Amino acid sequence: MKTFITALLLLAGWLHAAPLNIVVTLPDLADITRQVGGDQVEIFTIASGREDPHNVPLKPSAITKLAKADLFIQLGLGLEYAYAPALVKESRNLKIQPDAPGFLDLSGGVRPLDVPTNLDRKGGDVHPNGNSHYNIDPVYGQMIARGIAAKLGQMRPESAALFKANGERYAAMLQGRIVAWKAKLAGRSIKFVSYHPDLSYFAARFGLTQVGTIQPKPGVEPGPRDIQALAQTMKQQGVKLIVKESFYSDRIPNQLAQITGAKVVNIPILVNGTPAAKDYVALIDTLVDAFAK
Ligand SMILES: [Zn+2]
Repeated sequence: MKTFITALLLLAGWLHAAPLNIVVTLPDLADITRQVGGDQVEIFTIASGREDPHNVPLKPSAITKLAKADLFIQLGLGLEYAYAPALVKESRNLKIQPDAPGFLDLSGGVRPLDVPTNLDRKGGDVHPNGNSHYNIDPVYGQMIARGIAAKLGQMRPESAALFKANGERYAAMLQGRIVAWKAKLAGRSIKFVSYHPDLSYFAARFGLTQVGTIQPKPGVEPGPRDIQALAQTMKQQGVKLIVKESFYSDRIPNQLAQITGAKVVNIPILVNGTPAAKDYVALIDTLVDAFAK
């Protein structure tokens, strides 16, 4: 009997200590979840950071992880539309279906930019509900940390105070960085063109001017006429910088650089998008440096 009780106590202790199984779509969310959850979370990340976040190849390993997950976290605003809903459904895990407590969409507090007047995916527009790349605005990074802390607290109330403290500490650390990042880019009147419209929130936060994008519509590849028109606009407005998100080919950016004399800079838009962007702070650091140089 005594051994039985000891075994039960051990089991109870083990159950308590067992980390929450969490599946996140993006490495950015993995990093921030780890900062908030510490050793109480075990995280599987669907996207590597080196792929287009709109088009991550479906991986069977993700379904296996989702089937056992306590919590699923996505950025939302349609970014993961092409794969996340299918994976979550396919997992048949009732705990993480939309509207279940184990489903967290972080976009609730976002004021979407670039909302099209025509709300559909006609013509291949991958931002039908507005721009979904708010992860690279570090003020939203703070919101993400707090959102994750609140959800982890709901799932494990005995640790809610700890998660909240971790989330606030992370947000405060980001606040200090935001001041330094703003100082680095202040008063520079930087104009740029990117491949895909993924820098709208970042540009708005740091006072940069996005003159245009190589894709005529979010997710739609340009034709020769689009490239000519963009080159014309760049020359008229004196744009000297083309940023190329790391997962796109450099063929069109180089072509555009040849016509306009602008410089092409390779950038990450997700954690692990380039080797330097090894965590969320390093990602924003890398981006700020790319524009400051
Ligand atoms: Zn996009």
